Amino acid sequence: MELYSGHINKLIEELAALPGIGSKSAQRLAFHLINMPEAKVQRLTKTILDAKENICYCKECYTLTDKEVCPVCASERRNHKLIMVVENARDLAAYEKTGRYEGVYHVLHGAISPMLGVGPGDIKLKELIERLHGDVEEVIIATNSSLEGETTAMYISKMIKPSGIKVTRIASGVPVGGDLEYIDEVTLLRALEGRVEL
Ligand code: ZN
Repeated sequence: MELYSGHINKLIEELAALPGIGSKSAQRLAFHLINMPEAKVQRLTKTILDAKENICYCKECYTLTDKEVCPVCASERRNHKLIMVVENARDLAAYEKTGRYEGVYHVLHGAISPMLGVGPGDIKLKELIERLHGDVEEVIIATNSSLEGETTAMYISKMIKPSGIKVTRIASGVPVGGDLEYIDEVTLLRALEGRVEL
């Protein structure tokens, strides 16, 4: 038996397909959207479409940005010889929020996971190697301390080592399996300051 109309069911289904949204939240959101004034719904739809159309990868660090080069990469005040490798743009944002990191980033958009069928070619690793032909002094690997994050860190370290560029890994102040974006700034800074050479 269908509990709701076909349109509502479809909306619930689409919302439930989003990460972190269970079926209960999807139902709540669907009814909330339906009760919203039409103008507001249109504004939300337009915002989503505008974001989708206008956001691209920074051509240097591959984070998501509105411009060709993101504000961090464009800044002359940043140390461009220091590259922190993170899994996603949310991790970058977490480190930016500390306001204490002076280098630039490289966003992988994922981590190597043999179990999920994500190989080195599926994340922005080739792009990282290309950046190393420039003037780079240190690569800080700040992938998560999950199995995937550690696998990725090891892979990157092995890949960079022969070039003679210093490779470091953030300290394990970050709890095992912890997502960087949820960890407080003090812990992030401690992990950064306590980084060890690989
Ligand atoms: Zn950038």
